[in-house]
Amino acid sequence: MTSFLPASLANWPEHPRVRRLNEGPIGSGGRYVLCWLQQALRARDNPVIDAAVRLGNELGLPVLVYHGLREDYPFASDRLHRFILGASRDLAIGCGQRGLACVQYVDRAEKREKGLVYRLAVDAAALMLEDQPAFVAQWQAERVAAKTGAAVFAVNAACLVPPAALDQGVGTTSAFRRRHEKARELWWFWSDEEPAVGPYDGPLAYKPDRLGGLSDAALDGLLASLAIDHALAPSAMLPGSRDEVLVRLGRLTREVLPAYAEARNNASRPEGASTLSPYLHFGVVGPREVMAAIKASDVAEGSQQKFADELLTWREWFHYKARAMRVPESYVRVPNWARGQLERHAADPRPELETLGALVHGETRDETWNACQKQYLVDGWMHNNLRMYWAKRIIAMTPDPHIGWATACYLNDRLSLDGRDPSTYGNLAWAFGDAAPGYRDNPIYGLVQTRTDRSIRERPGGPEWLSKAAARPVPRLIVPEHLPEDPYVSEKLPI
Ligand SMILES: Cc1cc2nc3c(=O)[nH]c(=O)nc-3n(C[C@H](O)[C@H](O)[C@H](O)COP(=O)(O)OP(=O)(O)OC[C@H]3O[C@@H](n4cnc5c(N)ncnc54)[C@H](O)[C@@H]3O)c2cc1C
Repeated sequence: MTSFLPASLANWPEHPRVRRLNEGPIGSGGRYVLCWLQQALRARDNPVIDAAVRLGNELGLPVLVYHGLREDYPFASDRLHRFILGASRDLAIGCGQRGLACVQYVDRAEKREKGLVYRLAVDAAALMLEDQPAFVAQWQAERVAAKTGAAVFAVNAACLVPPAALDQGVGTTSAFRRRHEKARELWWFWSDEEPAVGPYDGPLAYKPDRLGGLSDAALDGLLASLAIDHALAPSAMLPGSRDEVLVRLGRLTREVLPAYAEARNNASRPEGASTLSPYLHFGVVGPREVMAAIKASDVAEGSQQKFADELLTWREWFHYKARAMRVPESYVRVPNWARGQLERHAADPRPELETLGALVHGETRDETWNACQKQYLVDGWMHNNLRMYWAKRIIAMTPDPHIGWATACYLNDRLSLDGRDPSTYGNLAWAFGDAAPGYRDNPIYGLVQTRTDRSIRERPGGPEWLSKAAARPVPRLIVPEHLPEDPYVSEKLPI
């Protein structure tokens, strides 16, 4: 049995879940161990918090959990912000119940704070943050580690098996699956670290927000006061809260898994999907807790295995791959042969070209595609089976493969609650050709495989379901004239 965390400080740089990001000294005169959560917004079963507690206990110091939400991260909208605010509120409540202080900061015109993590780190014996390979977190972590005097550790909270625990350089999903299946048995064990020191209540570098005590109405009021995209409303289907996770875990074992094998590919059957991906993306729940709920139920072994293959093999494969890339969001991750095919056909006539506005609003000439897109636009989530058709078709609906890739990332990341994730770019890369080549040299795609909507349309009730889904009313969003350039790799994003 491998512990989720190292036994003592001396081993920390060698533990697969923990990476030391700088040579700053540990402990010299700090008031607390700072635990900066960027994405893993849960109070329990959280390796970042537990690493901080373990270090705090060794040093005889309390832990200070910090979560900040800025107005200016890429794609900030009511949808993303409201989900995060709800999750952060529950994080604070959970930390309180665990005997940990949790302070927050919601960036807004009347309360502008600069460099808060740096300022909080001045009083820290060490800083624990998250080892996240995609979107803004990795760049922020690097900058903090370079600029702060405190010791900085990055802890993997997203995966059951931390990528560093596996052989490096594994090239195929089947080889990864074999290694992962063998390794996962070592990582099931979990027990939250108990803090030996009471909650930190000493001086702070700023006057914190405390979301733990706020009602839904107060969070809504706060949201309305922010300078973010208000046209993209919160998702009624996917509210950000721990309670929603618990509802979904109950539904997963009672309704979803018994039918998973046959219903999983059918978007018209709501029991075919767990809808857990946004909660996993924002870390409101971790994969270990999901699997523990399944293992404790009487779900048949075969269904457990099928689900584990999605949640553990596929999801963690994309985390593993992203970790080995400097910019996992980049089009260059698509294999050379596939880019070569797409680029060879870049000048082919594109009779199905659509404007960005038509794509965003699901108002193209393709009814099936519109039905897919409206799930992203209205619900902030799309069924797995639809995502495959949706992504493949973007290649034909945009002027060239580079713009196609940027468009797919933009739609996925702006609208979907689970976007901006290693799974986003890994799956988009699959659609753009990170798979076996096909046999026919098609216009626009070359040997990159295409996908039709036959399997969706030809199901019993398929056409009726599609026309209803494509006719859903949608909000009107502001659409930029040009796609944002590299919204991910920003040296400028404030912290
Ligand atoms: C083009 C395309 C884009 C995608 N974009 C995203 C994305 O932005 N974020 C995201 O989390 N997933 C993405 N996926 C993967 C998958 O479609 C979603 O994870 C899944 O549909 C989420 O719904 P669910 O939680 O109900 O899934 P379920 O079927 O209930 O599966 C349970 C969990 O397994 C994991 N999982 C399932 N399928 C995959 C997969 N193909 N790859 C990786 N993990 C998987 C997810 O964590 C999911 O929550 C994408 C797939 C495609 C084809």
